[in-house]
Amino acid sequence: MINVAIDGPVGAGKSSVARECARRIGFIYVDTGALYRSCALFCLRNGIDISPDNENAIAAALEERLELKLDRIDGEQHVYVNGEDVSDDIRTLKVSKAASDISALPSVRKYLLSLQRSIAAENNVIMDGRDIGTVILPNADLKIFITAKPEIRAKRRYDELVAKGQNVTLGEVLVEVNRRDYNDTHRKEAPLKQAEDAILIDTSELSFEETVSGLTELIMSR
Ligand code: C5P
Repeated sequence: MINVAIDGPVGAGKSSVARECARRIGFIYVDTGALYRSCALFCLRNGIDISPDNENAIAAALEERLELKLDRIDGEQHVYVNGEDVSDDIRTLKVSKAASDISALPSVRKYLLSLQRSIAAENNVIMDGRDIGTVILPNADLKIFITAKPEIRAKRRYDELVAKGQNVTLGEVLVEVNRRDYNDTHRKEAPLKQAEDAILIDTSELSFEETVSGLTELIMSR
């Protein structure tokens, strides 16, 4: 199986670029952020406090009460929490914040590790996240680190949320992006960082098509 690992901060364009690249080359696109978001949604809905002090209870609840599944419908990833498709419900600012918090807990990362590895072992994948090249797939065939300036990433995320009808301001989104960047890069467990053997792509000045075709060429050249 061929595994491509893509990591980078929020709003760098990872997911839309990875999804389109995977479509062009016939790979499966795996958005691992959806898994952390689903764990967060499960806790929010069940009144489980997401704080480091409550880590043992969170870990037990995930192990005993959460069945998490990824599936594909018309090539699009869907995520299921105990059988319910939550693919849309996980895309709110509230869940983003909770996902960022819950993802700092080592037992949550451990809970999601085998699911991610088994998908990569069975499929040609482009997998996107924060620690794919460093922790989940250290032997990936190709590792990419995608980034862009924070203001540009916030604007992209803002446009996405507004397009989904959510009532947010650019300022709120910028605060959230900066907060998540800080959390993701400063956590002890699997912090966001570029793997030593990853290729860096800065999309600040690149169009979507330029990024996609550049990445597709890179993958095909391997
Ligand atoms: O990629 P997305 O923004 O949907 O991810 C939501 C949150 O999940 C991120 O802010 C990050 O804290 C966490 N995450 C992670 N490791 C991954 C994917 C996401 O810690 N592989």
